[in-house]
Amino acid sequence: MTDILDALQVGVLVLDEADKPVLVNAAARDMGLVRQRQAGAAAPAEEAHTIVRTLAGQVRRTGITRVVELDLPRLTHGEPLGVNVRAVALDGGRVAIEAADVTEAHRVARVRRDFVANVSHELKTPVGALQLLAEALLDATDKDPAAAIRFAERIKHESSRLGRLVSELLELSRLQGAEPLPEPEPVDVDKITVEVLDRAKTPASAKEIELRFQGVRGLTVYGNENQLVTAVVNLVENAIAYSPERTSVTVTVSEDNGYVDIAVADQGIGIEPRDIDRIFERFYRADRARSRATGGTGLGLAIVKHISTNHGGRVTVTSAVGVGSTFTLRLPSRPTEAALALPPSVEIGGAP
Ligand code: ADP
Repeated sequence: MTDILDALQVGVLVLDEADKPVLVNAAARDMGLVRQRQAGAAAPAEEAHTIVRTLAGQVRRTGITRVVELDLPRLTHGEPLGVNVRAVALDGGRVAIEAADVTEAHRVARVRRDFVANVSHELKTPVGALQLLAEALLDATDKDPAAAIRFAERIKHESSRLGRLVSELLELSRLQGAEPLPEPEPVDVDKITVEVLDRAKTPASAKEIELRFQGVRGLTVYGNENQLVTAVVNLVENAIAYSPERTSVTVTVSEDNGYVDIAVADQGIGIEPRDIDRIFERFYRADRARSRATGGTGLGLAIVKHISTNHGGRVTVTSAVGVGSTFTLRLPSRPTEAALALPPSVEIGGAP
């Protein structure tokens, strides 16, 4: 009987009429529903957690079954344990308690709440700016046509940033598991680089930045071509955005032990060591003002990170302030488990 109960993932606990645990399984102990108590010189006894005893008392008095969600502080450090607890009155004043670990569900809910709060904030800013600019434009139309043109241009800039923000949010939520990764297919790396060049040449030439492609040709990776192009385009567009005019951006393709590396190197502003671990988080920007000026959304690298993970690869960065940065997308050159089956919704954000 005990071994059967110990095999369960749910915590099972029965308290007698005096709140003494008379049946406890291993999961209930692991969850901290019962704890060891030093009863003077007597043998150590187990006692139920205070919150559990309070709940048992209520159920015993009223005879009504209760289901509650609790965050129990852990004995060791770490995030609190989220448990869904159901307490039922039995005869003789006994109370049966079952508890399921819902920590992961709580964590996902928390990340989602933070995400919604961040998104609302990020959307409010450009919308507010657009309102002000539209009012200014109305005022200036008759009095100051030159200013009116400036306001109209800023409206154009802000609204295209807003449009990009919305489409990147959709992209990110798709990647976060709402829709599974389409069937992984062999993708020709040369096709990716050609497509990237095509998409990046306009922003590059606007800053007279030379785009160079070099390295091994004819390589294949497995996954989804559109997503891989998006990932490399994001890296190249960042390289252009965070570099001074008349520098160069180099994309190098190489092969290493079952992996294909696509490295994007720039001669740009570089990234401070304190920012480097955080730039892959959603909405994190080393320099908000600069990111706004370049039309950045703070989502580009979060998208790249998701795509690399979905494909069973990873993205890394090395950087020196004032010298430049190199972002490397590493992709398996054979189909992998991760590329074949998307993991269940994995949240990124606060904890990368
Ligand atoms: P953004 O839309 O702000 O560019 P990203 O998620 O693409 O958002 O990048 C996050 C931050 O990482 C940027 O705001 C910038 O501070 C930094 N960053 C990204 N790429 C580069 C780069 N090539 N050089 C310097 N900083 C970079």
